[in-house]
Amino acid sequence: MTESLTGRLAQIVGAGYVSTDPDVLDGRAVDHTGRYRGRASALVRPGSADEVAAVLRACRDAGAYVTVQGGRTSLVAGTVPEHDDVLLSTERLTGIGDVDVVERRIAVGAGVTLAAVQRAASAASLLFGVDLAARDSATVGGMASTNAGGLRTVRYGNMGEQILGLDIALPDGSVVHRHSRVRRDNTGYDLTSLFVGAEGTLGVITGLDLRLHPAPAHRVTAVCGFAELDALVDTGRVFRDMDSIAALELVDARASALTAEHLGVAAPVDGAWQLLIELAGDSDQTERLADALGDARLAGEPAVGVDANSQQRLWQVRESVAEILGVFGPPLKFDVSLPLSMIDTFARDSAELVAAHAPDAIPVLFGHIGEGNLHLNLLRCSPDAEPALYAAMMDLIARCDGNVSSEHGVGSRKRDYVGMSRTDADIAAMRTVKKAFDPTGYLNPAVLFRR
Ligand SMILES: Cc1cc2nc3c(=O)[nH]c(=O)nc-3n(C[C@H](O)[C@H](O)[C@H](O)COP(=O)(O)OP(=O)(O)OC[C@H]3O[C@@H](n4cnc5c(N)ncnc54)[C@H](O)[C@@H]3O)c2cc1C
Repeated sequence: MTESLTGRLAQIVGAGYVSTDPDVLDGRAVDHTGRYRGRASALVRPGSADEVAAVLRACRDAGAYVTVQGGRTSLVAGTVPEHDDVLLSTERLTGIGDVDVVERRIAVGAGVTLAAVQRAASAASLLFGVDLAARDSATVGGMASTNAGGLRTVRYGNMGEQILGLDIALPDGSVVHRHSRVRRDNTGYDLTSLFVGAEGTLGVITGLDLRLHPAPAHRVTAVCGFAELDALVDTGRVFRDMDSIAALELVDARASALTAEHLGVAAPVDGAWQLLIELAGDSDQTERLADALGDARLAGEPAVGVDANSQQRLWQVRESVAEILGVFGPPLKFDVSLPLSMIDTFARDSAELVAAHAPDAIPVLFGHIGEGNLHLNLLRCSPDAEPALYAAMMDLIARCDGNVSSEHGVGSRKRDYVGMSRTDADIAAMRTVKKAFDPTGYLNPAVLFRR
């Protein structure tokens, strides 16, 4: 990092928003889990789209690498700098516009947290279609960049489906404003989609127009226990196809045992596998829930919540899972979508793999079963076991027809496995797009591709 670049960045954003303090940089150079660490030369916090663009131009001209950081909740080490990078944080891009209740949309800065968008939507009696446990830290810019999914994807789709427009600062220092006030607009390339899921490799999202949804008048929640995973998957398949499905979440009993032991949050039902089901609609869904559970092979009576308080209690175990994953140190994480027919096989074979490679590790399985999207977390998994186990697990995922990344993205952790889910021609086309936007490859250089 040259002094002239530091000076130039300070001119652009103000000296108070540039830091080269080693402690600050150290804290920002590690991933959310604490498992992966890099090295940075400076932190810069621009306050507008034009400042972001000017920062990018200055870094490119100085030959510096830039890693973009939103809420830093990436679970694939997407914000870990590997080249002594300048860290570009979006934390000052926090403007929130008024909710347009007629068009059901809101314009926000990229650094606005998911929770802030949810609060704004709720104040206007609307809701935002994506929800995830990192809602207090994850930013909508980061979520757009990873095309995040989560707890409501089964009903409303991923982040991409919520995006009506974007402001993007490009690697050449220009800014694209892609917005439309009308609902249908097929003018030219769908540039918005190109930046969704690009994980910051093509540009920095600085602002978003987000779609909001009507809030359903009725909601019913149930937690059901199952002795066998395939029985849970069969039931999940039935609910996934219902138009009133609002959430469908799997939690294994090892996870709920840990939430009970460490947080005092016990599962409301017995069974090795638990399924949280939520239905929502304009009419009461309780009877539909009961009918659909009629043929389910349950381990006992389900726990059902029809009012907000009891529903919140039923969500407690699922909401607490994230907190217990770190109790034995940084967990090793896998995020995968599988055909529903392969989930049982994957659960069994992955447990065997873990026992063979890391006998002390505790496998915990949970996820968004509606999409076959599982999060396998290995607690107490030693770093020594990681390389061989990671490769073997990705091989198993491939054999089960799973994908490299379901919702967390590729980041730097999975870049060596992209070929598992994409053909050579597909990867070459992605590299062509990257080169067109960022010929020198200075933006998010550790993400998606190996340099
Ligand atoms: C407890 C917990 C639960 C989670 N649950 C889910 C879940 O259910 N579903 C899910 O999909 N994910 C989940 N995640 C992962 C994570 O929250 C998402 O990936 C989220 O989208 C990241 O947002 P962020 O602001 O933290 O982005 P960051 O982690 O800061 O960045 C993520 C990636 O996007 C890039 N980036 C960030 N901001 C921008 C921007 N403005 N423009 C361009 N690039 C940018 C970064 O360089 C990085 O590559 C969870 C994480 C945690 C810790």
